[in-house]
Amino acid sequence: MAERGVAQVWRRIKSIYTLQGNKCETCGTHYFPPRLVCPQCRRKGKLEPFTFKGLGTIYTFAVVHQAPEDFKRQMPYVIAQVDLDEGARLTAQIVNVDKEDVKIGMRVRVCFRRIKEFGPGGIIVYGYKFEPTMRVTGHEEKAATTN
Ligand SMILES: [Zn+2]
Repeated sequence: MAERGVAQVWRRIKSIYTLQGNKCETCGTHYFPPRLVCPQCRRKGKLEPFTFKGLGTIYTFAVVHQAPEDFKRQMPYVIAQVDLDEGARLTAQIVNVDKEDVKIGMRVRVCFRRIKEFGPGGIIVYGYKFEPTMRVTGHEEKAATTN
């Protein structure tokens, strides 16, 4: 009984700290979040669990200046549509970069961050966000002044 409990906890942790989607073995399409039915193959589709590598490219993005109460501390923040390398598109916050430096086509990787907190010692919800794969400063180096 205890072992089963541990396994369940680990399964949950795994689904929190990885991008778990699925793949249709019939047509090769990846889905995130996972789907119950492949919309292309319908009944012929054979969906299998799939863990995404977590690498992708920014397809489009927006800077959010108005946010619900829970997210106000992080304003303004960047929300992007990210095309995962395997082919699925998802929406996520972009972190660890100045909003001025976010670009369409930028390479990003998944990172798992605290999204919500409920009071001291309360529930903490983790979720996926994305960060640039390369460190960006965005600030051009100024030539040293000589006078
Ligand atoms: Zn399919």
